[in-house]
Amino acid sequence: MTQNNSIEAIRDLLSNAQKIMVTSHIRPDGDAIGSLLGLGLSLLEAGKQVSMVLVDGFPSAFRYLPGSNRILRSAPRNIEFDLTISLDASDPERLGNAFGERGVDLNIDHHITNVNFGKINFVDPSAVATCAILAEHLPEWGLKINNDIATALLSGIITDTIGFRTSNMNSKAMRITADLMDHGANLPQIYTEALVNRSFEQILYWSYALQKMQRQDGIIWTTLSLADRQLAGYNGNDDADLNNLLSSISEADISVLFVEQNNGHVKVSWRAKPGINVSSLAFSFGGGGHPAASGVDLQGALTDVQNTVMEATFAHLKQTKDEQIS
Ligand code: 5GP
Ligand code: MN
Repeated sequence: MTQNNSIEAIRDLLSNAQKIMVTSHIRPDGDAIGSLLGLGLSLLEAGKQVSMVLVDGFPSAFRYLPGSNRILRSAPRNIEFDLTISLDASDPERLGNAFGERGVDLNIDHHITNVNFGKINFVDPSAVATCAILAEHLPEWGLKINNDIATALLSGIITDTIGFRTSNMNSKAMRITADLMDHGANLPQIYTEALVNRSFEQILYWSYALQKMQRQDGIIWTTLSLADRQLAGYNGNDDADLNNLLSSISEADISVLFVEQNNGHVKVSWRAKPGINVSSLAFSFGGGGHPAASGVDLQGALTDVQNTVMEATFAHLKQTKDEQIS
């Protein structure tokens, strides 16, 4: 664990602060939203003034989470925060400039590629989710876990582990899950909301990408364009969870998804089967993530980004296989 501060230091930091801003990464996923609400609501319970910020807002699929209506798209300008906290983000660019010049005081994350950009960094790559870190440590940091907080945290664990099935799953995460259930989190309900229920627009959006799907040498890839998004009426700027479907294809050692963004950028996502590490590949492009799931945001046209990234991905898989043989 990369950790330059102790439980006591973080407890003091949290207890001494009154005006706190909490944020997480752009295109927020379940762990980003769950950790934001989990920590944000527990700080509110402790009597703090808390601003929970996600610059992209969040997909309406997460509206089921209690407290989600409190999330702002930018920090109130009239508040001078005495503590800023980043959750589930491995580098400051991922925060979409949520803190402006203010910078990050406390960086809490579980990505192996975290660049330790906070004044205090609490980074545990063995944790299955940032929500798991919070569930484990909130009580030690002097904060309470109530029903709503447990619901938010379990939602992040379930989404980041895709229903407890990612290769980093461990018994500690199951114990944490059991504790969260004891705190009132309804596992079947959260599981269904987070991983089973889908909107018509989401599936329609997938259908455009599925028609374009390609395969070669153990790699599956496809694109989601802005036109696809518009045709489907899908209102998020994320992958609509299509990555989980692509990675379920048996022959996909690696799957790659390109999602066109409206700022001349393309979001690239890699998923890999156990034994193949795509985090180093993502990092080489300036992104990051986990060995089995990584991403990057690249400037350029969809086809150009696709060509560059696919070439590197083929080379990466070949090198990995060559190393496995030798
Ligand atoms: P996804 O492909 O679902 O967006 O992300 C997979 C993993 O890679 C997540 O853990 C996410 O935090 C990380 N990731 C995705 N995009 C980026 C990026 O642009 N920069 C960094 N540093 N990490 C990313
Ligand atoms: Mn996460």
